[in-house]
Amino acid sequence: MDKLVADVEELYRSSFACAAQCCARAPGRVEVLGNHTDYNEGLVLSAAIDRHLCVAVGRSDNTFEFVSGSFPERVVISEVVPQKEYAWTNYALGVYHWLKAAGYPVAPFRMAVTSTIPQGAGLSSSAAFEVASGLALGDLYGFKIDKQELAHLCRKAEHTFAGANCGLLDQYSVLFGKQQHLLLIDFRTLDYRPISLAGLDIVFAITESGVTHRLGESAYNDRRIECESAARYFSEKDPAVHSLRDVNPGKLHQAGDELQASALKRAQHVIGEIERVKAAIELLEQKDLRGFGKLLYGSHESSLVNFENSCPELDSLVRIASQFEGAYGSRLTGGGFGGATLSVLDCTIEKHTFVRHLTDAYARETGHTCAIHFATPAGGAEIIER
Ligand code: ADP
Ligand code: MG
Repeated sequence: MDKLVADVEELYRSSFACAAQCCARAPGRVEVLGNHTDYNEGLVLSAAIDRHLCVAVGRSDNTFEFVSGSFPERVVISEVVPQKEYAWTNYALGVYHWLKAAGYPVAPFRMAVTSTIPQGAGLSSSAAFEVASGLALGDLYGFKIDKQELAHLCRKAEHTFAGANCGLLDQYSVLFGKQQHLLLIDFRTLDYRPISLAGLDIVFAITESGVTHRLGESAYNDRRIECESAARYFSEKDPAVHSLRDVNPGKLHQAGDELQASALKRAQHVIGEIERVKAAIELLEQKDLRGFGKLLYGSHESSLVNFENSCPELDSLVRIASQFEGAYGSRLTGGGFGGATLSVLDCTIEKHTFVRHLTDAYARETGHTCAIHFATPAGGAEIIER
């Protein structure tokens, strides 16, 4: 049995003095290409990764009880409302709340959690927690839920119980990821498709920069407004345009002076990212990892110049990674303004050499310490049959 599953069952047993009834496991995820395109009805390439969060559950009479290998306390909750003191329970409580609101026959439960997904590293431990909770509760209370519906419901849980305004990328990646594949998600239709990596042996290095720029949140909102204003400009010229997804690169060049320079640059980034995702799919089909990697560097350059969501620390990590033999590409991943980078590396690289190369040079250049997590594309969340 998987060690993490064995661990969660043991944690459940030692905490609640009985065996768990059901168990589910969900992977973390990484955004590979298609930065800030989700709210512009764009395309994203992501991957579920081989870091997992497991939950074990059992029925309870009328309270909700939680333990996690990552937190010291055992939490008992009688009312399903967002928790302040033990905020980590909100992800499972929120999923329970929205399952119930949707009419699913859920009732109180005990839950144990174990995980190898670092928290707050941009690998979406939160979505893994939600999705694993939803699957395990379905198994415990004997109902099946459509995965797309579960994704929406988990996002609602994250918005309302955890107060994080995430898109659907996280939950989709966690649910629909496939081993040895990337996942293409179309945010206009919410269709998704696995993209094969057969014969392409890569490893991801997700590197936490150790910095979060405080300007991040307000800048994120500014970017959304600028994208909307650019989309409005183009739709006034052409009513067929509903979002930046409908603006092709040719139309961008025809933009007049009425479009603010900053809005034009944001649009260039989003439209460029959508084109890069399309190009990436072709290059992966042709097994051209060098070409694919160049798109990642191009994405980062566009973040730096057009979207202005990079920062010196992320630029430094990408530059240092690019100097490593065996690196195909590197870019900031996720929102930006600090956070993490993704490097795509040949699977034959020596991991400890990469770690030393990156950490030494990064510390020298910035004075910061980075944390590196290696991962490979993995399958989506699942109920563990026992
Ligand atoms: P990310 O999703 O990038 O990892 P978030 O801040 O969205 O970062 O989610 C992290 C939060 O999810 C943690 O602060 C914690 O509340 C919850 N969480 C993640 N992993 C666990 C775990 N193993 N046990 C309990 N709670 C967890
Ligand atoms: Mg999260």
